[in-house]
Amino acid sequence: MNYDRSEQLYEKARKLIPGGVNSPVRAFRAVGRHPFFVERAKGPWLFDADGNRFLDYVCSWGPGILGHAHPKVVEAVRRVCEGGLTFGAPTAREVELAELINACVPDVEMVRLVSSGTEAVMSAVRVARGFTGREKIIKFAGNYHGHSDGLLVKAGSGLMTQSVPDSAGVPAGYAGSTLTAVYNDEESVRALMEENHGQVAAVLVEPVAANMGVVPPVAGFLEFLRRITKEYGALLIFDEVITGFRLSLGGASQFTGVHADLYTFGKIVGGGMPLAAYGGGREVMSCVAPLGAVYQAGTLSGNPVAVTAGITTLKILMDDTGIYDRIDKKARRLAEAFGDAGLTVNRAGSLLSAFFVTGQNASGRKVENYEDACRCDREAFAAYFNHMLDRGIYVAPSQFEAMFVSDAHSDELIETTCGAIEAWIGGKTNG
Ligand SMILES: *Cc1c(COP(=O)(O)O)cnc(C)c1O
Repeated sequence: MNYDRSEQLYEKARKLIPGGVNSPVRAFRAVGRHPFFVERAKGPWLFDADGNRFLDYVCSWGPGILGHAHPKVVEAVRRVCEGGLTFGAPTAREVELAELINACVPDVEMVRLVSSGTEAVMSAVRVARGFTGREKIIKFAGNYHGHSDGLLVKAGSGLMTQSVPDSAGVPAGYAGSTLTAVYNDEESVRALMEENHGQVAAVLVEPVAANMGVVPPVAGFLEFLRRITKEYGALLIFDEVITGFRLSLGGASQFTGVHADLYTFGKIVGGGMPLAAYGGGREVMSCVAPLGAVYQAGTLSGNPVAVTAGITTLKILMDDTGIYDRIDKKARRLAEAFGDAGLTVNRAGSLLSAFFVTGQNASGRKVENYEDACRCDREAFAAYFNHMLDRGIYVAPSQFEAMFVSDAHSDELIETTCGAIEAWIGGKTNG
């Protein structure tokens, strides 16, 4: 494949934009190559600036559950644009989207619309702090909650040690109120709760983790989080920015049967536009200004164009009762192919990851937390990525991202993908 035009654009972009990209993982560094520049997309396909076509399993990192440029969504957006792009005043559409979110996730009695997942989680944490009058939060190593200061923290060297920020520019004091536990490890949570008795405002979790590769909760883990947060008077926040409207219409809470106090949504809820949301029960959400004392605002919050894309997408998902079964089946078929190839596969619904696990120890080759995920062979992953891309199949350029299956991936395209996975393994064993 020829990437001349993308190379030229990348060259220019690097002079003008840090690393040439507007979000770091797009730079393809983990797979040792330069990014392609996208010109347009349709259904399951991405087309780059050189006219190459890729079967897309990134789906814009999650929003594209219907595939790209769904005609109904595009038409609705086109129409709403004619009536003005932003008003900074309430619209009927915002009420409609709030109703739809509530219909899908009944726990969300009240919701606030924002413009990014980062903003949604940051705000939900603020609400939890305002509501409880406590400052500390517990998050899990390997869970991503956007790039706000207090959440760019993973594990310190031990569970009780002071957390350190992952990013330059984050004051140590911010990170200090973020405690980090081990995903799927009840004891690590209990120990932090005990150590910080009466100080923990919330436990913040990806109910199915999808930012260290896909790591589903082990049996009983979410139920445990529900119990222990109640026991210690803390709130439970499900960050459903990826899982919301993805694992089921009701997201992870419906998928797992465990209910949180606060939820955050992004990605699918915006139908491909910059829109996200946080919400929960009426009592907790009544803290938010102008009703309550927790301040949170946004010039473009509830933007009519973004809200329209969200409404149209949710309505399509609600009307099409078969969609979750279909994408689940397709993801299961891909998981089989990876399993046959000898990889460790984690899957929840249409989210999956194949882990190139090495250094098999007593825990076998399971990936249940961040440390397990870190045992992966990143070079082997990069080789696999490049093998797939050379065959016109675009998977996330990192071992630690999910593979997203959309309704636009036909069974035939899934089989083609399985063929490419088998060819990779064949190539390896023959070589
Ligand atoms: C993507 C993501 C975010 C951040 O959302 P942005 O829209 O990128 O700011 C937060 N939490 C989770 C679980 C995510 O996957």
